[in-house]
Amino acid sequence: MTEYKYDTIIVGGGIAGLTAAAYLSREGQKVLLIEKNRECGGLVNSFTRDGFHFDAGVRALEDAGIISPMLKDLGIHLEVVKSPVSLGIENEMLHIEGLESLEQYRDLLARLYSGSGEEIDAVLRIIRKIMKHMDVLYGIENPVFKDLKGDTDFIFKKLLPWLPKFIFTVGKINRMNMPVEDYLETLVKNPSLKDIISQHFFKKTPAFFALSYFSLYLDYFYPKGGVGKLADIVRDKITEWGGEIRTETMIVEVLAEPREVKDQNHETYAYDHLIWAADLKTLYALTKTDGLLPKIRKKFTETKTNMMKSRGGDSVFTLFVEADEPLESFRKIAHGHFFYTPSRKGLGETHWMKLSDLLRNFDRVKKEEIFAWLDKFTQLNTYEISIPGLKDPDLAPPGKTGLIISLLAEYDLFKKAQEAGWVDELTQALEERMLNVLSRSIYPMLKNKTIKHFAFTPLSIENRIASSEGAITGWSFEKPVPVVNKIQFSDRSVLTPIPSIYQAGQWAYSPAGVPMSILTGKLAADKILKKKRK
Ligand SMILES: Cc1cc2nc3c(=O)[nH]c(=O)nc-3n(C[C@H](O)[C@H](O)[C@H](O)COP(=O)(O)OP(=O)(O)OC[C@H]3O[C@@H](n4cnc5c(N)ncnc54)[C@H](O)[C@@H]3O)c2cc1C
Repeated sequence: MTEYKYDTIIVGGGIAGLTAAAYLSREGQKVLLIEKNRECGGLVNSFTRDGFHFDAGVRALEDAGIISPMLKDLGIHLEVVKSPVSLGIENEMLHIEGLESLEQYRDLLARLYSGSGEEIDAVLRIIRKIMKHMDVLYGIENPVFKDLKGDTDFIFKKLLPWLPKFIFTVGKINRMNMPVEDYLETLVKNPSLKDIISQHFFKKTPAFFALSYFSLYLDYFYPKGGVGKLADIVRDKITEWGGEIRTETMIVEVLAEPREVKDQNHETYAYDHLIWAADLKTLYALTKTDGLLPKIRKKFTETKTNMMKSRGGDSVFTLFVEADEPLESFRKIAHGHFFYTPSRKGLGETHWMKLSDLLRNFDRVKKEEIFAWLDKFTQLNTYEISIPGLKDPDLAPPGKTGLIISLLAEYDLFKKAQEAGWVDELTQALEERMLNVLSRSIYPMLKNKTIKHFAFTPLSIENRIASSEGAITGWSFEKPVPVVNKIQFSDRSVLTPIPSIYQAGQWAYSPAGVPMSILTGKLAADKILKKKRK
């Protein structure tokens, strides 16, 4: 029995779904946002344990010409601080303060890889070029968030002069769409140097996206109170504008005709329009297309086949540490956002080949072999370390420090260990190795001053946000992505073969992250409002 009828239902209360719901409720639409978890935010989420505040998803935000224009447009004030980045390899440290740090990065690499000076210079030249492209791309507030009719100043002084530069830059960027590993192959012969530059990116990340990171390091900011504040503040706006939010409600069926979704308790909600702001394989698996025109059903089936063949991108293993050591001890070593590699050697392609080998023969492989692989994985890898208390001192109990330490991790390893019944042992083994490696290198105090530690694995991410393969930024780059992946076509990324259903978020456009999730949420809302007006 249908109890509810909404103008728009949004499934998924991550930052994409929240953005769409905010824009639609602001325009007076009858909106329902449905979220399976108790809290909204998805991968933009903070939580507290034992008085320590941690971020479960993204560690800091980069504006990309999107986040602040969106907040301004919605009339939201978010208190933020800068989130400076440090880079470290063995004992060499670089605290990034501004553009001039690029020269110091060059010197740091030259000290570690003597004899590779020319290769380092070649990479740095490319990074500088990309930084210029980024300045153009993000150089103005994204016009999607501007009221162009009422802002002639913006149109004539900013948008029109920017457009030709944008078109020129997009052409350049599209020529750097090949995997970063292949791109670096043409510039760098030293395999360790190549690894050090690329190993904390997702496998086969487009070269432009990966090498733009230095410019993102300069821009990271952090909401006071934790990254989750961004989600909280957008959620509050939705409620203020009369939008309805249902948490702890999981959609298990989508009926394209009649336009209805069903939750886990068999409750039915009817809509004029649906925005799916969650995993797209799930949307395509749950949707029944009976009653639609044959040509729409055919297109839907083709798209579904493409989606189902594709995989989610890399996942992450995160170790959360509660340490009985003051923030000052950590501040002396590095900023609160820190990329650290304990060895200059680099993980190496053989390392990944070994893992593929172990996974292929998992049933016959001894646990000891996996643990031996874990030894190298933790010794040679690049760690992303975030210390919320160094960005906002209120986020740690007095005299103590909470650390969020992560490594990109292979979902299949955890899945297979779970099927074999020893995933907890694997998790514990990885936690211990990570603590050991960091205590022996950059944080000697960690081992004895750790009060408690716990971890989230790729399986935790899959379970919590229902993300295929525990992916944290949408589709894998290892195969052709089944969605729009060119910035000039981003407007189309929110369309599905079914005219009343739109898609938004990290699965709708690739490469994705927080800014693209927000952008697609807004684009989906705009399409619905435009249709309604017609
Ligand atoms: C460790 C880490 C580091 C990251 N670093 C960066 C970074 O540096 N820069 C960057 O831009 N991005 C980064 N990201 C990625 C970024 O956080 C995500 O891409 C973005 O938050 C995705 O938002 P979303 O709304 O599209 O999806 P999600 O956050 O996944 O939201 C989807 C929501 O849908 C809900 N849901 C799923 N299925 C259903 C269902 N059937 N019914 C109801 N609800 C459902 C889920 O519970 C979830 O809340 C990082 C992520 C992680 C985890």
